[in-house]
Amino acid sequence: MSVQEQIGSEGFSAAGKIAPTILEARKITKRFGGFVAVNGVELSVRRGERIGLIGPNGSGKSTLTNCLCGTLRIDDGAIEFEGESIALLPAHKRARRGVARSFQLPKPFHSLSLIENMRVPLEFTVCSRKGTHMSKAEMRDRSFDLLEVFGLASKAQRLPGDLTQVEMRKLELARAMATDPKLLFSDEAMAGLSHSEVDEILELLLKLNSTGVSIIFIEHIIRAVMTFSERLVVLVAGQKIADGDPKSVIENQHVIEAYLGQ
Ligand code: ADP
Ligand code: MG
Repeated sequence: MSVQEQIGSEGFSAAGKIAPTILEARKITKRFGGFVAVNGVELSVRRGERIGLIGPNGSGKSTLTNCLCGTLRIDDGAIEFEGESIALLPAHKRARRGVARSFQLPKPFHSLSLIENMRVPLEFTVCSRKGTHMSKAEMRDRSFDLLEVFGLASKAQRLPGDLTQVEMRKLELARAMATDPKLLFSDEAMAGLSHSEVDEILELLLKLNSTGVSIIFIEHIIRAVMTFSERLVVLVAGQKIADGDPKSVIENQHVIEAYLGQ
């Protein structure tokens, strides 16, 4: 019996009902030359779910994220988002449908102020959706409101270069949230932060999730992963070795040997 079968996965929403599946990825495979970085990974995500994605460095977490968000094209497999295939769509079209991500290394527009950094994703996703029109003033208000949620409103007119490391991570998440996503991938948003800064980001992610956004949280800080996750997925050498209840996964001998024991 596989680890996944032993553990199982329930996927109940807060109301006790089983939430609908939003993302269904089947047999995702990505090769770089002859090297298989992601090997036949299956992943389904329910609406509003909080999933922790862990694994050693180089195990394929960012590559899987890139494949699902469209930064990379998959070599094999299928990806459905809200019941429709998105595998052939470029990243910006997936973003318009509601798939967002923050990059492991923040990628703001360095020559634009924070508020302008928010306007760009807003304009290219939310405003490009059918039936959505936003005036310049509405876009400004929306951008400012988001900066406020992330505690960056007082620096709205400043450049990203003026931010501290934790503020930069917040900006990266705020820019992803500006696309009004249904599913957010947070790729190592806490690396190098202090204990209290980790808590700040954790609190923000929980707040975003409480609005109904499904979140895939990629992180090495196990304390944060265990606090955040309703379900835990483990990748090792491009393969999924566990998927289920966080406590059962983290105590699984196979997972301990392959990752935690390192
Ligand atoms: P993780 O995010 O789990 O640390 P990555 O997905 O970044 O792992 O990397 C998985 C493997 O794929 C690593 O061995 C990495 O060197 C390799 N890899 C990632 N991106 C590329 C690329 N663009 N070209 C070649 N190899 C890559
Ligand atoms: Mg990575």
